[in-house]
Formats: sequence, structure tokens, C-alpha cells
Amino acid sequence: MQINNLNPCPKCHKPVLWQGNSSRPFCSERCRLEDLGAWSDESYRVAENPLEEEGSSWTDEGVT
Ligand SMILES: [Zn+2]
Repeated sequence: MQINNLNPCPKCHKPVLWQGNSSRPFCSERCRLEDLGAWSDESYRVAENPLEEEGSSWTDEGVT
């Protein structure tokens, strides 16, 4: 069985050169992170915390 140094990336299935590849078995750091779920919505997006309306902001100037 002949073994070459190319293996398909588990994420995008592109040939991955293993030798000297710190992200193996993925083709890139991005694919590695995506597969780990680091890019999923919950963990990647910053949870926005919209300010609640603090009462009403009427301009109470006593208009006559
Ligand atoms: Zn990939």
C-alpha cells in the first residue's frame, strides 16, 4: 500500500500535506477550528447584550 503524504481534510476534503502541517489532519487552522466548533454561532459570535429601555424618555417640557 503506497502512502503519500496527502490525506483529505476531514472538514473540506481537500488534500492535506501532513508534513510540516501543524493543523493536521486538517488542511488549515480554520478547518480545524471549524471542526472543533469554535466557529459555531454560539461560541464565535459575541453575545450581544442590548440595553433594555430604561423607562420612557419623554421630553417633559410642559408644552402649552
Ligand atoms: Zn480543510
